[in-house]
Amino acid sequence: MEPKNILTVNGGSSSIKFALFAVGEALQRIFKGSIERIGLPDAVFKVKGAEAAEDFSRPVVVSDHMMAVDLLMDWIEDRIGRSAVTAVGHRVVHGGAKYCEPQIITEAMVADLKQLAPFAPEHLPQELLLAEAFRKRFPDLTQVACFDTSFHHTLPRVAQLLPIPRKYEAQGVRRYGFHGLSYAFLVRELARVAGTEAGMGRVIFAHLGNGASLAAVHYGQSFDTSMCFTPTAGVPMSTRSGDLDPGLACYLAREEGMDPAGFNEMVNSRSGLLGMSETSSDMRDLLEREKNDVRAAEAVAVFCYQVKKWIGSFSAALGGLDTLVFSAGIGENSPQVRQRICTGLGFLGIEIDEERNLANAAVISAENSRVFVRIIRTNEEWMIASLVSEKLGLALGVETTYKEGAT
Ligand code: ADP
Repeated sequence: MEPKNILTVNGGSSSIKFALFAVGEALQRIFKGSIERIGLPDAVFKVKGAEAAEDFSRPVVVSDHMMAVDLLMDWIEDRIGRSAVTAVGHRVVHGGAKYCEPQIITEAMVADLKQLAPFAPEHLPQELLLAEAFRKRFPDLTQVACFDTSFHHTLPRVAQLLPIPRKYEAQGVRRYGFHGLSYAFLVRELARVAGTEAGMGRVIFAHLGNGASLAAVHYGQSFDTSMCFTPTAGVPMSTRSGDLDPGLACYLAREEGMDPAGFNEMVNSRSGLLGMSETSSDMRDLLEREKNDVRAAEAVAVFCYQVKKWIGSFSAALGGLDTLVFSAGIGENSPQVRQRICTGLGFLGIEIDEERNLANAAVISAENSRVFVRIIRTNEEWMIASLVSEKLGLALGVETTYKEGAT
């Protein structure tokens, strides 16, 4: 039988990340890579293969996403050949109210998603462009859209509805939530490592990377989440502000003549850790500098304080808490940040074990902690491949449960 491989594609505003998975006894990653800094003079194409000899990182000239995806498709054809790719799975930032599960990309769907472009103008058009480029080059290749909003389609009305005039809801303005592929992976992974009962319990997932959000989950379903109509909402992030007083937009328009585009650029690209520290959007840099630079110290402090507040708020929404899970770059790797977030949450039953926390262990709560506190490494690419293989029935009869070290 022909081997079946799934290519995952994750298009960002200035990057394309990709990975190839073989569908076998488990989903086995063959390579992963990225084209980064698209449109800038120092754009780079990186690949990490199954063996170190296959790894490379080289400068490339890609002035836009079209050139970048052409380069990627050339490389894929060279590396494994078109016929070796069974399907492509795309991460799509927004599925609106209609798309709550992975779907094969059709012309009708692309037309629907184009209507949603105003909801995610920085991401959705680029993502559609990637799917379109694959369709033009390989017309018979099945492509599947996996939506970052899907996981949150279970949000109850009180979490969805925004307290503004109702007519906007009819236009689709409500809480959608994002990072859904990560949360879907983490829910499965929690059940795998901690058992079904823990997986069905009251859980807060804290996905803390460059983009950061939290999700309150019960019975494996999204109950509330910190991102809202756009991914700018919720906790402060590397360059995004998170929640702000709505009156600020009006103040800046009045006092500085700031227009909508200027405000959008400020809250998405010049705020958060970067805005507060005035030096870096990267948590590692700020932790290094915080002793000598009060701006770095305050940026870290505000981040930890806000995440702590969302944990408190979601514990109330869930009526208690059984498990807290840290994930993504900061959540998986920073003992200091986790410690600071959890300090003072003893009243919720959260106690951290210092040594386990320092070791980035799988369980970092102390023996006497009523709430289990865990670190789970997220894997959005694996989740896309898994959803595609389920959708297309490629996984029939084979094990697609995540296996540690398999990817
Ligand atoms: P993205 O959302 O772009 O996928 P990541 O999940 O890789 O981002 O997270 C990037 C963030 O994780 C950066 O702020 C980086 O500084 C932080 N990070 C990675 N490793 C560490 C570490 N050891 N200590 C503190 N922060 C870390």
